[in-house]
Amino acid sequence: MIKKNRLFTPGPTPLLPAAQTAMASYGAHHRTADFRALFARVLADVKEFIGTKNDVLVLSSSGTGFMEASVSNLTSPGDRVLVLTAGKFGERWASLAKAFGCSVETVTAPYGETFSLEEVRRKLSPTIRCVYMQATESSTGVRHDVERIAELVRTSSDTRPDTLLVVDAITGLGTTRLDVDDWGVDVIIGGSQKALMIPPGLAYGAIGERAWQRMETAKSPRYYFDLRKERKSAAKAETAYTPATSLFAGLAAALDYVRQMGDGNLAAGRDALIANAELCAAMTRAGVEALGLKLFAPSSPAAALTAVAAPAGVDSTAICKRFRDQFGAVVANGQAEMKGQLFRIAHIGYYDYLDTVGVLAALEHVIAEATGRPVEFGCAVRAAQQVYAKVR
Ligand SMILES: *Cc1c(COP(=O)(O)O)cnc(C)c1O
Repeated sequence: MIKKNRLFTPGPTPLLPAAQTAMASYGAHHRTADFRALFARVLADVKEFIGTKNDVLVLSSSGTGFMEASVSNLTSPGDRVLVLTAGKFGERWASLAKAFGCSVETVTAPYGETFSLEEVRRKLSPTIRCVYMQATESSTGVRHDVERIAELVRTSSDTRPDTLLVVDAITGLGTTRLDVDDWGVDVIIGGSQKALMIPPGLAYGAIGERAWQRMETAKSPRYYFDLRKERKSAAKAETAYTPATSLFAGLAAALDYVRQMGDGNLAAGRDALIANAELCAAMTRAGVEALGLKLFAPSSPAAALTAVAAPAGVDSTAICKRFRDQFGAVVANGQAEMKGQLFRIAHIGYYDYLDTVGVLAALEHVIAEATGRPVEFGCAVRAAQQVYAKVR
């Protein structure tokens, strides 16, 4: 049969056709009125998409660039920071903070689980200058409780009023409700290749007043990712250096699409995008369990992706390979030491009912052939349909 190449990976995600067209035809120079108008529009739309009154920035880099900026701009060597880590992206925060000479405290949760709030409470102290976490840990498919953790950071008598909370929501934005300003999140970060349906290369984020103030005294070295410099340029609708212009054109088209999803209201469109991911995720979890497979993160599953434990005796690498060879579908393997143990199916961004039901139908064949055990064809698809029908 024909195999269409389809991404089911939690970044990069499938591209929005309207964004592809916009990118292909964009050729303006970045120091022109044309680009300034596009840039100003994108910043205003990103602000609405995040749902914040704080200043937003869009950087030409992958998501990790904005993560690095959130360490280099907000810390000084020797600062004590608290990293909440439950997977490869949490570990990235710890490595970044160490690279800039911070003294790193951690709260860890086993892969597939989220943090104990009690332990977070115990680790907060007046000497902690910044708390770093993920909204959703894409390596394990876990959703963390940003609201409760923000509440702890903001109200604990063991934190100072200027303790900063930085949230990597690179797969959280557009898949899960994040009330950034009400909860008191100081920095929130997103990436272009996730819910916003365009290729990798842009990182965006919102930065609150406490964080802007911290930058005045933070002493870690920074140059390309100097956020104060970017903010100054952004006020003139410019970027400090040459931006990835065509990606900005794509991002504008993607944000227009989200606005259309909300009948002209971007915030409503964002909520519809979140509801879409939540429904695709619920359908997938039901399908996977009906097939007799185990969720890798059953207690706090993310809507961005579903991580599934490989069945006993089967390496998930073989499952990913079958998906690709037989169906042209790219499903993500486990990362690093989790490779072989699980596979991940994404729902973040441009996925619909047919994608979701299709990947579950393919999963039935893949599991039947990989395990050599009989599968009742239709069982995963039926369970997903029942979830869909109930929500209708
Ligand atoms: C994709 C992702 C990142 C960023 O990765 P880049 O490859 O630098 O874009 C960071 N955190 C999470 C949770 C992610 O899913």
